Amino acid sequence: MGQAAAAKPRVVIIGAGMSGILTGYRLLGMGIDDFTIYEKGNCAGGTWRENTYPGLHCDVPSHFYCYSFAPSPDWTKKFSPGHEIREYFERQAHELGVAPHIRLNSEITDAKWDGARWNIALKDGTKDVADIVISATGFLHQIAMPDIAGLDSFKGVKFHTARWDHSVSLEDKRIGIIGTGSTAVQIVSALAGKVKSLELYQRTPQWVLNVPQEEFSPEQRAAFRQDPALMRELYDEASELTVNTARAIMGLDPALRAEMEQNCRDNLLRVKDPELRARLTPSYEVGCKRLVMSPDFYEAIQRENTSLVTEGIDYVEANGIVTKDGKLHELDLIVIATGFNATAYIRPVTMTGQDGVTLDEVWAEQPKSYQCVTVPHMPNFFMIGGPYSPVGNISLVLMAEWQVDYIMKCVKRVADEQVALSPTQAVTDAFISDLREEARGTTWARGGCTSWYLDAEGIPAIYPYPFEHFRDTTLGGPDFANFDVRPLRQPVDA
Ligand code: NAP
Repeated sequence: MGQAAAAKPRVVIIGAGMSGILTGYRLLGMGIDDFTIYEKGNCAGGTWRENTYPGLHCDVPSHFYCYSFAPSPDWTKKFSPGHEIREYFERQAHELGVAPHIRLNSEITDAKWDGARWNIALKDGTKDVADIVISATGFLHQIAMPDIAGLDSFKGVKFHTARWDHSVSLEDKRIGIIGTGSTAVQIVSALAGKVKSLELYQRTPQWVLNVPQEEFSPEQRAAFRQDPALMRELYDEASELTVNTARAIMGLDPALRAEMEQNCRDNLLRVKDPELRARLTPSYEVGCKRLVMSPDFYEAIQRENTSLVTEGIDYVEANGIVTKDGKLHELDLIVIATGFNATAYIRPVTMTGQDGVTLDEVWAEQPKSYQCVTVPHMPNFFMIGGPYSPVGNISLVLMAEWQVDYIMKCVKRVADEQVALSPTQAVTDAFISDLREEARGTTWARGGCTSWYLDAEGIPAIYPYPFEHFRDTTLGGPDFANFDVRPLRQPVDA
């Protein structure tokens, strides 16, 4: 057994994205300044650092996609470009006093509980020790590469959308994009008609909601700056819009859901060629896959030198993609827009918790958490955006604020009482089994599609109850009666 927790605990946070910066800020607010945020990348910003592809923007309105306590009057558009969001979070890290705690280019590889503290190892060989570990890694950071024969034999350039190589010129290229999720749709809108040729390789069509983009003029931004009440109003409006969209997708507002479906169908009518329109029309329910939002995708796909390929990919060869009809599509650049391994969470970090139990063992069936934040056998370990956290088309920022609130109550208990906290296996199993039962009835499970929401058994691994339920459960928690609470060994010199 190691040393016991100090009265002011030492905390290690993994990841300097939106939720890691937020956690640092909340720790400072509690008077805890002994913490380090380890960041594997070369700057803060999380997903907004990793993704830099052309057309990148957030489809959650800007005035809501920010900390509720730090509204920004500076957004230039209703749906912010990715670089503005990265700059916002980097700026917040400085303004909130968190930046000095961030250690860049520092990837944690292993964390081991010694009975009182977490022993942490980094890729560069350095070590650290912490009373509390908080995972702020997000869940869309491990890229998913498609299993397509011959991909490595392609002699042109290829990269995943989250590894965009900006040294490669685009205008002179014949580009093939594999995948039709939110990412691919944004790239097609940005590049169609501006490159030598563009082919979108679609396995499954998407429903696309027509949501107009809007520019904020310098005068509007000046007005936002001068009027905090207006900023609050914009936040509340955007919040309501986002939450209502999520409610409609879940079928909780049938009238709005019908309106949304009609919007998607009307949007499709902008495709003039009926044959192309038919190929772009999904056969599953609106909202079954994460709803794609775009004001201009259908215009883009109809541009000159732009085409939709729906013949399946057979294999890739040196000169391009060969489809199942035997046709070779000669290409210079293949963009892999096949998404992420959403169930990786903190992994590939290896974790060994109480009594030598590993995270892989706890998660052998599927990633499990209690109330989306804590994991059995992993004492004083907390996750933001952990398994079954809500996703869908909502803002992860507000979700993170509520989860960090929950975590801070745990941190206080650990610090005040010198204890190790982890949820019991029984309460976690019951929590997960309830969510999975509820999830079976959702549009994500029954809507006739597959998506990254689904686990290996085809059950959506996202929060199946309304957003308000998540808010009330998270802000109302934790109930420590559901936790294994163990006193830590006193330090030898106490
Ligand atoms: P995604 O939604 O998981 O889409 C992956 C695409 O790749 C799908 O069209 C999938 O087809 C296709 N695919 C996968 N393997 C394939 C294969 N072997 N051959 C051919 N096609 C293949 O990924 P994403 O677009 O990167 O988006 C991931 C998530 O990131 C989004 O759902 C969203 O949560 C987030 N995101 C958010 C924003 C935003 O504005 N807030 C923007 C971008 C991304 P099937 O449908 O047939 O499986």
